[in-house]
Amino acid sequence: MTTAFYSHPDCRGHDMGPGHPECPQRLDAIEDHLIACGLDAALERREAPLVAPSDVDLAHESLFVAELREVLERAEREGRSRAIDPDTVAAPGTWAAVRRAAGAAVSATDAVLDGSVENAFCAIRPPGHHATRDQAMGFCFLNSICVAARHALDVRGLERVAIVDFDVHHGNGTEDIIAGDERVLMVSIFQHPLYPYSGAVPSGTNMVNVPVPPYTRGPQVRALIEANWMERLDAFAPQMIFVSAGFDAHRDDELGQLGLVESDYAWMTERIKAVADKHAQGRIVSCLEGGYNLAALARSVAAHVRVLAGV
Ligand SMILES: [Zn+2]
Repeated sequence: MTTAFYSHPDCRGHDMGPGHPECPQRLDAIEDHLIACGLDAALERREAPLVAPSDVDLAHESLFVAELREVLERAEREGRSRAIDPDTVAAPGTWAAVRRAAGAAVSATDAVLDGSVENAFCAIRPPGHHATRDQAMGFCFLNSICVAARHALDVRGLERVAIVDFDVHHGNGTEDIIAGDERVLMVSIFQHPLYPYSGAVPSGTNMVNVPVPPYTRGPQVRALIEANWMERLDAFAPQMIFVSAGFDAHRDDELGQLGLVESDYAWMTERIKAVADKHAQGRIVSCLEGGYNLAALARSVAAHVRVLAGV
């Protein structure tokens, strides 16, 4: 069984301008490093399709999607960028990238459920976990993880899926979409306080939020995950696990102040894989979220993917 690697050239076409940390070079750094360390040979590369509108509607309000589409299509047509918020820019290539990102997550879900691969990593941008039911924010437009998780439930008929989010920022969009949906258990760990300043109090009984103060390092993060996530995940017995894989909690990442290193990402992936192996036939779909120090991002993704691929 293999690990699929989903991406698409369109995901590089989304460019929010010079100096923006969420830049096309993030994907180049990841791919270059996977080649340099020989990991690319262990992965089955697949091209991301465009997401089906019916899948987007499983996670987002249709009026929001229509308005977002209009803004992004206009940027594409006019060849001009327009800021949605100070951090989130609709650029000419954004609409294609957004649809490839969500399409990768859904396609990876189908591939894993069909058994053609054991698990999958989606090297996609823009990220998605800050996008709420009806708002684009924080570099995010559509919530690819939620679109894929709902596809697994509503289209493919699963009854229970888990979402694991280890990005340094709280996944407020994911929480907004799945709070109260008892078919989903979301476990997360994030720096608090930090953008978007939410999550200290979970908004549903189906979430396990672990806010940690700045300068928390790997050993404490591992202990908190062990104490807070593992029992809940085991009791929930998910049939599939989705990972919002942000790598901005790395020691070298300047968007957060946490102290994780590559071995911590490998360890987290091993713990997630143990739950997937026990309850979910190993089914994991992991999607890139944050991670802005290019070298640290590339090495951390490699540590994550190495465990997924079991090499
Ligand atoms: Zn982040």
